[in-house]
Amino acid sequence: PFSSEARRDHHPGVRSAYEHMARRNPDEPEFQQAVLEVLDDLSPALTRHPEYAEQRILERLCEPERQLMFRVPWRDDQGQVHINRGFRVEFNSALGPYKGGLRFHPSVDLGVIKFLGFEQIFKNALTGMNIGGGKGGSDFDPKGRSDAEIERFCQSFMTELHRHLGEHTDVPAGDIGVGAREIGYLFGQYRRLANRWEAGVITGKGLEWGGSRVRTEATGYGSVLFTQRMLERVGKALDGQRVVVSGSGNVAIYSVEKAQHLGATVVACSDSAGYVVDDKGLDLDLLKQIKEVERERISVYAERRVGARYVEGGSVWDVPCDVALPSATQNELDADAARVLVRNGVIAVAEGANMPTTPEAVQVLREAKVLFGPGKAANAGGVATSVLEMRQNARRTSWSFQHAESELAETMSDIHDRCEEAAERYGAPGDYVLGANVAGFERVASAMLAQGL
Ligand code: GLU
Repeated sequence: PFSSEARRDHHPGVRSAYEHMARRNPDEPEFQQAVLEVLDDLSPALTRHPEYAEQRILERLCEPERQLMFRVPWRDDQGQVHINRGFRVEFNSALGPYKGGLRFHPSVDLGVIKFLGFEQIFKNALTGMNIGGGKGGSDFDPKGRSDAEIERFCQSFMTELHRHLGEHTDVPAGDIGVGAREIGYLFGQYRRLANRWEAGVITGKGLEWGGSRVRTEATGYGSVLFTQRMLERVGKALDGQRVVVSGSGNVAIYSVEKAQHLGATVVACSDSAGYVVDDKGLDLDLLKQIKEVERERISVYAERRVGARYVEGGSVWDVPCDVALPSATQNELDADAARVLVRNGVIAVAEGANMPTTPEAVQVLREAKVLFGPGKAANAGGVATSVLEMRQNARRTSWSFQHAESELAETMSDIHDRCEEAAERYGAPGDYVLGANVAGFERVASAMLAQGL
């Protein structure tokens, strides 16, 4: 199953760890994909560090430290009772408390949360900060639910989860379907049950009650800053480039904002039903009004903006661009889409979402020598800013926008350099996928080794 079978022989430790994992988790395709994507790059690291294989670090990494699954009962506005399933996978705490978001989406199951938690371990390690990896969520579908229903669901979810959390234990945040409103209801319920105003137990809080400036913008800003660093390395810049973003949620919106700040023209974005093209460049205020205030479909954008058009279904990657930022969800950019992008002359792709590019598509982009920023590096700005929030909470202070943004920019630049350095050290300069996998792995593995079984 290794995508790079033809490229190199795998270390026996890599092969056996993959087979061990696949046997133990047969019905979890996303988790298997995420593991394979990392392990595929680790053979040279295992050859260089034989102790990692001797101590079975890979098998240990693939087995979550703890997996929680719980019932979430709640009542809708008509008085009807619903039962959803809640998850929290506390994957690895060698580098710090479990850290990672909560996703509320009907596609969520244990395998999806494990894939996200696994990615999170390496992403968090790449930030250079002291956070372990975890992820959680529910198969609850927030679409069309009233405010009161969201409130009751979040309270029920936290009624079980609260006993597993703590600022030094496990610190959730948002992800798909969990934004500022949900974090408010979750934190409120934690505070009531724990009888503790423990700001550092969750991140993405409102500014008046422990939140950090730039946290809302951080993932999108970070992925664009990462793209800018990749372009600079080859003597280019975002200024004047045509950019296409997929999705129109939190990550997409703030990718558009930062790309525009840096002089790019963002000509398209999408949602699960279709995409909009606006050759003059997206009107950011209108986009925010529709998505953040009215919580409407993206088709509404084309109805209100002269010169924009809406395409139902189809692929946003058909829109020609220099830079593509997949920022919606997993496996949204496949090999066919990658070929279209390459044919249209794309020079850089950076993953704002988690694992949006299929392994076959990554292969197409790698072969075409397109600059490619993998999610665990490119979208680490969100979780890194969560740590900035925890720092402010610990000191009972609050930074200015400018200060928080400059910390984020420095972190993204460090992540870029860590990937670049590792790629060079392993003889693959410019290969950010290999660089991110190896640099993240080395940091976690050495901590696990030092701390014993
Ligand atoms: N859900 C985000 C991610 O995928 C942020 C996690 C966090 O801030 O803890 O990294």
